[in-house]
Amino acid sequence: MEMEEVFLLLGSNRGERRQILERALALVGERAGEVSQLSSLYETEPWGFEDAVPFLNQAAALRTVREPLELLGILQGIEEELGRRRPVGGAGPYLPRTIDIDILLWGGRVIRGSRLTVPHPRLALRRFALVPLAEIAAEAVDPLTGLTVARLLERCDDHGSVKRL
Ligand code: ADP
Ligand code: MG
Repeated sequence: MEMEEVFLLLGSNRGERRQILERALALVGERAGEVSQLSSLYETEPWGFEDAVPFLNQAAALRTVREPLELLGILQGIEEELGRRRPVGGAGPYLPRTIDIDILLWGGRVIRGSRLTVPHPRLALRRFALVPLAEIAAEAVDPLTGLTVARLLERCDDHGSVKRL
């Protein structure tokens, strides 16, 4: 299988956010491929819901030979390990998620499945995703519109706060 470049967005708004992002990236590197680029950390306003705690977000480029659903499974395993406390002695409530890892772009591929949609369906609507992604991949092209990430960001009318740390 050919090596392809995938762009991820990591986010955390609970716990030791920096450490959680670092740990998640280390696990992605161990299990999925080579993390070849990383954006700065950004502190961003929660999008689509109210929360007192801002997110830390970071975009990463990953060089991987994994298949898309295989990668999704690996990322969800990492989320579970870092973000969800396993209930002791059976079923129990989940605590707030400390880590979210989304697949933003996968080379020029378009994937429309029940478990995975790529490009990420809300990428063009979210400054908190586009700003970090533009830092490492301004010229990457969204295969649905043919527009670069830089151009998607110019056209995005989200006004959520996104501060580079
Ligand atoms: P969200 O990221 O929207 O806060 P979750 O992380 O819980 O929510 O993801 C919900 C579902 O979204 C996952 O079970 C996954 O199957 C699906 N999904 C679809 N497309 C993607 C994508 N591009 N990246 C990550 N998850 C995706
Ligand atoms: Mg997610």
